[in-house]
Amino acid sequence: MNDQIEGLHRVCPGVQVIPVKSPTLPPATTTNVWVLGEHHVTIVDPASPYPEEQERLDEILEMFMVERILLTHHHHDHIGGVEAIQKTTGAKIAAHPATRDKVKFEVSELLEEGSVVDTDSGFWKVLHTPGHADGHIVLFNGGLSAMVAGDMVSGLSSILLDPPEGELGQYLASLERMRTLSPELLLPAHGPVITDGTAFLAETIAHRHSRSTQIISTLAATAGQGLKGITKHIYAGLIPEDFLPIAERQVLCHLRWLEGKGRVVNADGKYHAVSP
Ligand SMILES: [Zn+2]
Repeated sequence: MNDQIEGLHRVCPGVQVIPVKSPTLPPATTTNVWVLGEHHVTIVDPASPYPEEQERLDEILEMFMVERILLTHHHHDHIGGVEAIQKTTGAKIAAHPATRDKVKFEVSELLEEGSVVDTDSGFWKVLHTPGHADGHIVLFNGGLSAMVAGDMVSGLSSILLDPPEGELGQYLASLERMRTLSPELLLPAHGPVITDGTAFLAETIAHRHSRSTQIISTLAATAGQGLKGITKHIYAGLIPEDFLPIAERQVLCHLRWLEGKGRVVNADGKYHAVSP
């Protein structure tokens, strides 16, 4: 029956999604609000700060008993509609303690590694997955082989890792832990459902390693480059000029990780590859 509600898309039993407009980074323009359960539901990341989008979400949610508003993490393109939806539904707000510490509203249910989120159509296990955000969590349902992935992956682009909160070593370790559960479906915060989840996670990990290798070869070819120079070398022609500052944050994240591994040294803002 839910198929007939405009704006609400059914993915599988107990999983539906309502994409809402949000102030996120291009190429994404929306955030997925996941609806877990059939009648008594948990909703994930009611993201939109725009009143007309909040109203639309609220109208669609009228057909459910919203029991819990769950946040994958604290970023502004995930939490903009929390207070509005909390007001109309009276649902409790659930998040990791590190997310609780960063938001202005009250979080009444704390979720940590191993916590279980119950709905009327199954249980979702919580994994704490830092790397993109300290308090980031994902949810896994073994029966459905589905994972609510938040901002750990996106079908639209690479995930932004913004140091110091963005930390490549943690991000890779979190992706590995997600991969060991072999999810078929990844339900990301932005973009379409990913149907080859385990392979997608492996590719995402491999992509990060190849980016690190690319930075090492750039430095091996021309030692003593600054962050801007390395970023231009890697991204020139691939992304619009305006995005270079964002790309710089990504490159910095990789450089920090490589420094930690002893593969790069930083002398007064100039980076050098260390010969193995
Ligand atoms: Zn985020």
